[in-house]
This record gives sequence, structure tokens and C-alpha cells, in this order.
Amino acid sequence: MKRNILIHPDPRLKKICSPVVDLTDELRQLADDMLETMYDAPGIGLAAPQIGMLDRLIVMDCVKEEGEAPRPLIMFNPEVVASSDETNVYEEGCLSIPEQFAEVTRPKIVDVAWIDRDGNAQRETFDGLWATCVQHEIDHLNGKLFIDYLKPMKRQMITRKMQKLKREQARE
Ligand SMILES: [Zn+2]
Repeated sequence: MKRNILIHPDPRLKKICSPVVDLTDELRQLADDMLETMYDAPGIGLAAPQIGMLDRLIVMDCVKEEGEAPRPLIMFNPEVVASSDETNVYEEGCLSIPEQFAEVTRPKIVDVAWIDRDGNAQRETFDGLWATCVQHEIDHLNGKLFIDYLKPMKRQMITRKMQKLKREQARE
């Protein structure tokens, strides 16, 4: 089932999410719904708080090449366990901040540990877009948005645009 994506500013996007201690069927269903919502948007990553659920859960799939098999990832309690000194700059966007993009600098390579959909511990090294995406999504679990990396003026400008967008949506 597709879920509604919250638009910034929203207090739920600023919350620290709780670790998943019991991997229930409800949480698995939530993860599946998040993937469906993400693909439908379309997007390459989605974090639980973006649909109003304050659990440490993210989903992503950064496969972009036409014809390449999709690689949906479901991560409970994802954690960056190591990151490179080398950085990368990507023009980031966010499904909670539609049509706004800005360059963000992050570590180029990160090791991430998480619990998968079956409850197994996983660990993998991510590079390039995958690394940027996983860091962006994990930030969401700590109440942090990509615009928090921008200079205050730029951040305020984007926030005002989003407030206007939400007012327009509310009138529809
Ligand atoms: Zn985002």
C-alpha cells in the first residue's frame, strides 16, 4: 500500500527515530509499503519518518541504468560504522522537499551495518551515489535533512517555498 509522503516543514521530520527491537510483520509490511511508495514517487531512497513513522527504517534502490535489475534494500537500524576521508559532492534532492536540489559534501565511501527484512545482520561498503543516498536516509532517522547542510539563507529560501507549496496543497 502506497503511503503519503510528508512535506517539510513537519515536526515529525525533525524527530530522532527509535531503534527497532522486535522485527514484527507490521514492520515488514511498513518496509514493503515504503519501497512501493519510493518507486512510485519516483525516488531512490525513503526513510520511515517521511511517512510519519518514527522507526529506524530506511529503504533504497539507486540502480538507475535502464534494463539493469532493481536492487531494493530494506535496512532496519542502519548505522554508518566507518567512512572515508575522501569526500564526494552530489546534487541532492528529497521526496519531502520536492523539486529542490542542492550540492552536499559527504564521505565518498561508507561501511554500513543493518538488519535486513529477515532479521539478519548485514554489512556492506557503499560508494558513489549509494553512499550519498544511504547517508542522506540515515540522517532522516536523526531528524536531519539535506538542507541542514546548506547556508541559512538558502535553507530559509527552500523552507519558504515548501511552506507556500503546502498552503497551495491545503487549498486544493
Ligand atoms: Zn530525504
